[in-house]
Amino acid sequence: TDRLLTPDRIPEDQDAALRPKTLGEFIGQAAARDNLGVFIEAARSRSEALDHVLLFGPPGLGKTTLAQIIAREMGVGFRATSGPVIAKSGDLAALLTNLEEGDVLFIDEIHRLNPVVEEVLYPAMEDRALDLIIGEGPSARSVRIDLPAFTLIGATTRQGLLTTPLRDRFGIPVRLNFYTVEELELVVSRAARLLGLSIARDGATEIARRARGTPRVAGRLLRRVRDFANVAGHATVNAAAADAALTRLEVDSLGLDAMDRRYLMMIADIYRGGPVGVETLAAGLSEPRDTIEDVIEPYLIQLGLIARTARGRCLNARGWKHLGLNPPEGSQE
Ligand code: ADP
Repeated sequence: TDRLLTPDRIPEDQDAALRPKTLGEFIGQAAARDNLGVFIEAARSRSEALDHVLLFGPPGLGKTTLAQIIAREMGVGFRATSGPVIAKSGDLAALLTNLEEGDVLFIDEIHRLNPVVEEVLYPAMEDRALDLIIGEGPSARSVRIDLPAFTLIGATTRQGLLTTPLRDRFGIPVRLNFYTVEELELVVSRAARLLGLSIARDGATEIARRARGTPRVAGRLLRRVRDFANVAGHATVNAAAADAALTRLEVDSLGLDAMDRRYLMMIADIYRGGPVGVETLAAGLSEPRDTIEDVIEPYLIQLGLIARTARGRCLNARGWKHLGLNPPEGSQE
């Protein structure tokens, strides 16, 4: 998508430039950070590979960043790939046999692994072994190849997308949550420093409030605000400058964009506040169901604008209010 507020990676993000390099530099996610710190220290003190880690949470919250940090803090190599890229079990076998002792193998979107490939991963994770079938038909036989001790770090948007056997093989499940405004302020200030941009405290707050709880979005909004500030000749970005830029970009006070508002309006206008099924919404908005569920809805739910119920999506009182509308007579809200 070409949405300014999408938490998904887009080419101009230059994520790498803004990535924290150590656990200490990683802002927010205190519980995850503290626990990982302990597990890393313990594994290091025993000179063992770290147990397999599953990172889950909405896109743009720092899963790739954390995986790289884990490898760096463990002092091991880092290899990255993603579920849909590994087409055949041979591709995964090649990756695994090329790992060095202790290495981290990062698989983004691990829920999108082909099931045949996933089967290869089970013995690799559990017994650090690869079972290969050599030959075909009656003469086929299976050989077992030992693998170096390695750490698999899987990333996924929702833990529930994984099959149970795969999920059960991760010793360290780590959930990442949306960032608070205070945490995002730190993310914005830090990114501004790295970009050589002068930003006032209230300018950072304004961007943080409108960044959907997501560092990637915060970084992107900061770059766009910087463009406006440069052209307008502002030496420092304050709240007024940030607000002017973000308003021109149609990012509203809660950090919602035109697509979010279309989504909310559809429930309000056509379905009188719901409940309405996600498939119906996806069809009406011409967006894939995954985009609705992984990208649009989590933040609207976090804000309390909508609720996900067994019968479908409903607009909450806050949602009606944000649209400047009154719920219809006789509705539950
Ligand atoms: P994910 O893999 O979850 O989609 P990334 O790890 O690629 O997210 O992070 C997206 C962007 O947000 C990167 O530019 C990264 O530098 C920034 N970022 C993520 N988490 C943090 C954090 N805790 N502190 C500072 N920047 C962060």
